[in-house]
Amino acid sequence: MGLDDITTRVRKAEQDAGRAPGSVDLIAISKVQPLERVEDVLKAGHRMFGENKVQEAASKWPGFRERFDGVTLHLVGPLQTNKARQAIELFDVIETVDRPKLARTLARLKDELGTCPDLYVQVNTGEEEQKAGVSPDETDALVAECRELGLPVVGLMCIPPVDEEPALHFALLAKIAARNGLEKLSMGMSSDFETAIAQGATSVRVGSAIFGDRVY
Ligand SMILES: *Cc1c(COP(=O)(O)O)cnc(C)c1O
Repeated sequence: MGLDDITTRVRKAEQDAGRAPGSVDLIAISKVQPLERVEDVLKAGHRMFGENKVQEAASKWPGFRERFDGVTLHLVGPLQTNKARQAIELFDVIETVDRPKLARTLARLKDELGTCPDLYVQVNTGEEEQKAGVSPDETDALVAECRELGLPVVGLMCIPPVDEEPALHFALLAKIAARNGLEKLSMGMSSDFETAIAQGATSVRVGSAIFGDRVY
């Protein structure tokens, strides 16, 4: 537990998988964490973070960015079109593009603002009713549409079903990314990030194993 321990485990998993040292980014998921815990991780020198809600990110990250240089912030939760403008202003990476309507909104805002974060398409690999993400069958079409719109799609993201072997979902995501020529794979959380690294993750999203249990 803790940043040092998780960083060590990420480096070890890279090595075990024959991956280059430092090839996997550790995204510290700070949602719902007390601000002191986030500040401690910033003071330890970590700079890559993720949040799952636009509003919550807006309440804490502009302040942290004033005090700490070089922060990179990822949106890892569902994005409503009416929050897209604010999301573009707050985040460096949006990992949750999951439908054509959102892609079209982002494209319009990109033209208007002259800027757009790097984007990932979120894939609902388990085809779970309650979960966000495009189904595996529809992913190629959504990636193609994003490209036609001129959006900077760089990779895919998934959250496997809790009760299934994550390795199968990570392998599926890697396969869909490969056939679409996408290099980035955001997969793996506190309980399964080493498995994700073995399957080719280029970034892992770790919350509670870095910060401790979330305090709701
Ligand atoms: C909360 C969250 C995480 C981190 O979960 P932990 O189990 O605490 O590591 C990763 N990805 C997403 C999309 C999340 O919402």
